[in-house]
Amino acid sequence: MKNNNLLVVISGPSGVGKGVVIKELLKSIKKLELAISATTRPIRVGEENGQDYYFFKNEEFDKAIHEDDFIEWCNVHGNRYGTLKKEITRINNNNKIGLVEIDTQGAEKIKHKYPEILSVFLAPPTVAVLEERLTKRGTESKDAIKKRIETANEELKRIKHYDYVVINDTISNSSKEIQFLITKSFDL
Ligand code: 5GP
Repeated sequence: MKNNNLLVVISGPSGVGKGVVIKELLKSIKKLELAISATTRPIRVGEENGQDYYFFKNEEFDKAIHEDDFIEWCNVHGNRYGTLKKEITRINNNNKIGLVEIDTQGAEKIKHKYPEILSVFLAPPTVAVLEERLTKRGTESKDAIKKRIETANEELKRIKHYDYVVINDTISNSSKEIQFLITKSFDL
């Protein structure tokens, strides 16, 4: 992790459409590779170890912290998540740029440590639109949506720590915008 940490960090509130935008970016920029994070949260149905996350036991996570294996790690919703140094090194050594989707605290930590990385916050046009999208998605209860909106308001307070804020009006527009930022920042 010396000089060229080729890394793109994307954050944004739940329901803003990060997943779809990231898929679009990975499709259109061949040099981009998703970096898998480590987490202590239980594996969900349909997830695979090493594909969605590296699922660590608490002791494994403690050991990784102790051995300074993380670029950053944070507590998110009661579980620990961390970006592994060796994952980014592996990607960069393959002549590729890493992409991580992490929470706002983690993004702030990475940017502080490695100012050369590119950080982008994907924001909804308005919080009302985000609430509408979450309601339409229908995967969360009313209470859960309320919590997510509260979290989104907290996250929006931290956007000043990002290099760029991109408004997700449509998937196509925002992925093109981020694509442009990546191309410009890494001289592709
Ligand atoms: P989930 O458990 O739903 O996959 O992810 C929950 C949250 O963890 C998301 O908001 C995501 O941004 C965050 N997250 C995933 N990986 C990392 C990581 O490596 N570091 C940090 N700080 N947050 C992460």
